[in-house]
Amino acid sequence: MLKNGAFTPGASPATWLGVMGGGQLGRMFAHSAQAMGFKVAVLEPAADCPASHAADHFLCADYADAAALADMGAQCVAVTTEFENVPAASMTQLAASAFVAPSAACVAIAQDRMAEKRFFTDCAAASGVLPAPHHLIRNRADIDAMPPALLPGLLKTVRMGYDGKGQVRVANRAALEEAVDGMQGVECVLEKLLPLACEVSVLVARGADGRALVYPIAENVHRNGILHTTTVPALHASPAAAERAQAAALVIADRLDYVGVLCIEFFILDDGSLVVNEMAPRPHNSGHYTIDACITSQFAQQVRAMARLPLGDVRQHSPAVMLNFLGDLWFASAAQPGPVEPDWERILAVPGACLHLYGKEEARPGRKMGHVTFVAPTMAAVLESLQAACAILGIAP
Ligand code: ADP
Ligand code: MG
Repeated sequence: MLKNGAFTPGASPATWLGVMGGGQLGRMFAHSAQAMGFKVAVLEPAADCPASHAADHFLCADYADAAALADMGAQCVAVTTEFENVPAASMTQLAASAFVAPSAACVAIAQDRMAEKRFFTDCAAASGVLPAPHHLIRNRADIDAMPPALLPGLLKTVRMGYDGKGQVRVANRAALEEAVDGMQGVECVLEKLLPLACEVSVLVARGADGRALVYPIAENVHRNGILHTTTVPALHASPAAAERAQAAALVIADRLDYVGVLCIEFFILDDGSLVVNEMAPRPHNSGHYTIDACITSQFAQQVRAMARLPLGDVRQHSPAVMLNFLGDLWFASAAQPGPVEPDWERILAVPGACLHLYGKEEARPGRKMGHVTFVAPTMAAVLESLQAACAILGIAP
């Protein structure tokens, strides 16, 4: 340990960092931690997960496995999570023997859409942003008590939703009743369907000393509820809206006493107003562009924050657009019945292409298989590269 409580990166024997979850976020976290001289332990129940191939020690166990958690706590000086739904109790157990960042309390709020919205509402006086109008729906009585102005709306499960999963659009009361019946008693929240001009996200990094840095605002396009592209600088957010979102994100991170990388999603509405949607207590898909376009990537930043090292420069050195590769791309060719690997050689030949593949064996529709970030001296050149890649892949840009 260094004198200010920081964990030394290049030590002998090595200093170990732990990550709960073995998906692509854990894999990219491991790459960054290792680049800085740390060793990485990954805990995840799925054997052949993306981070297992990058980990220095892979603990293949359930997230709540007390023995595996004890092993990780004993081996690692600090532990973080890449999986939003890791049981908060596991983070609490780890905190007995390692520095845990973000805290179990922060993770627990982000796991529950109602708790999250309550928290955002509590912050509103200082942050200046509110969540979408909403109402908790558990049964017919909740539907009766709901303000009718929430329709048309979006019914979302309170827990375990991601990439648009667990969400149903409901146009009217009959559709809502049907959707609620389909949820089979799972707690839901109905949100008013808002007129979105664009969606943006703000990445904040906050250290254990309370110092925080905010990355440039990122503009996100979703398709079928899944992130499609992230463009930075944002093309459709006014500088005023961008500043308001960044200021709000800093207030929210402060109120949480958050340590690590936090991503907050906002909606900018047709009338220019800003609404806070949700937060991810970890690096986020919309922050992948930072790997290739910023001085310090979101993963390197997570390493620095959890090791209580100085945060890195968040400056963006090049305009960038990130394009997600979903498993659907493997099935784009009508000529062949099975999955066909996209033509990476042609993608790599596009100017400014930085290719990232997650090492997933099986391509499935909707599954995140990788991404490409295009960087260039100008946004016009970045967008030209995006067009070229979309033409190669046979998708609309
Ligand atoms: P997830 O956890 O699946 O990312 P989100 O709440 O972010 O859930 O919803 C996914 C997407 O659905 C959003 O990025 C946005 O495009 C759309 N969406 C969500 N809530 C609303 C809303 N209240 N009004 C309009 N669109 C919404
Ligand atoms: Mg979202």
